[in-house]
Amino acid sequence: MSQPPEKSFLVQKFAKLGLGALHVIGYSVAGEETVIQVPELNICFDIGRSPYFALTSDIVCITHSHMDHIAGLGYYLSQRNFQGMKPGTILIPREIERPVDALLKCWRDVERQGTPYTLVPMSPGQLFDVRKDFGIRAFATHHGGVSLGYAAISVREKLKPEYMGTPGPELAKMRKSGVEIQYRVEVPLVAFLGDTTAGPVFDQPDVQNAQILITEVTFFDPDHRAKAKAGKHLHVDAFVDLLPKLKNEHIIIMHVSRRSGMRRVKNILRRKIGEGQMQRITFLMDLEDARDEGEVEELAPPPAENAE
Ligand SMILES: [Zn+2]
Ligand SMILES: [Zn+2]
Repeated sequence: MSQPPEKSFLVQKFAKLGLGALHVIGYSVAGEETVIQVPELNICFDIGRSPYFALTSDIVCITHSHMDHIAGLGYYLSQRNFQGMKPGTILIPREIERPVDALLKCWRDVERQGTPYTLVPMSPGQLFDVRKDFGIRAFATHHGGVSLGYAAISVREKLKPEYMGTPGPELAKMRKSGVEIQYRVEVPLVAFLGDTTAGPVFDQPDVQNAQILITEVTFFDPDHRAKAKAGKHLHVDAFVDLLPKLKNEHIIIMHVSRRSGMRRVKNILRRKIGEGQMQRITFLMDLEDARDEGEVEELAPPPAENAE
């Protein structure tokens, strides 16, 4: 009889939010670590310091090269290899593909282990097809250097209205002769912005319409506006201005500065937007929703004997 996997002894708190059919698991504090997993989509957005649960996602979407978002990449790939999992697929801004590739090759030499991986260089507007019915599209964000956000998109083919009621065999014949009888429907499920200040990214249809939008709001204090501007982060006042054009069912706020307490930032936002708008907003690191690492590891496979 197989033993249940031993849970991690780490006591770092992680969020685990259930939002309809999807879960959002992760940790995000500015300058510390940002890693957000949607297990049902097999995706991790940024890798942070690679907490254990992140290993179970086959795809990692890296937004930019700041260490609090990318530090754990080598560990993620190496541990997956140790545990006999398939090589990770890493979507990454095209401009940093080369240095990251060099870094990972260097880790191979350091570890004396031929860790396999796939790097997918991404540009704004590019769609990476995961499956026929599911893809990940990159879009530009505004963080001072090279940075991308990502939208996870469900793709469906639907019958054009003019062919509704046409008998099946006839449709099959038309399709065979090359007639386009279907049209493409895209549903953005999750959009993840990484680090960004306000800008055209908030006019992207994928961002405005995603069922779940995961955005940073780093600063909340009135005298932190200069910090937000310098670091190209979002201040709560800018977020409040953007909110009317966001149609998302759920908005998750992450990357809040440790300088500001969670209870305080919730109150600041509530005062500005009212209880009605607060209903669709969740602070990722709201400790009431947080779990110990062991409690978010249920989805992980049992570790291999030689895993360290
Ligand atoms: Zn950051
Ligand atoms: Zn950053």
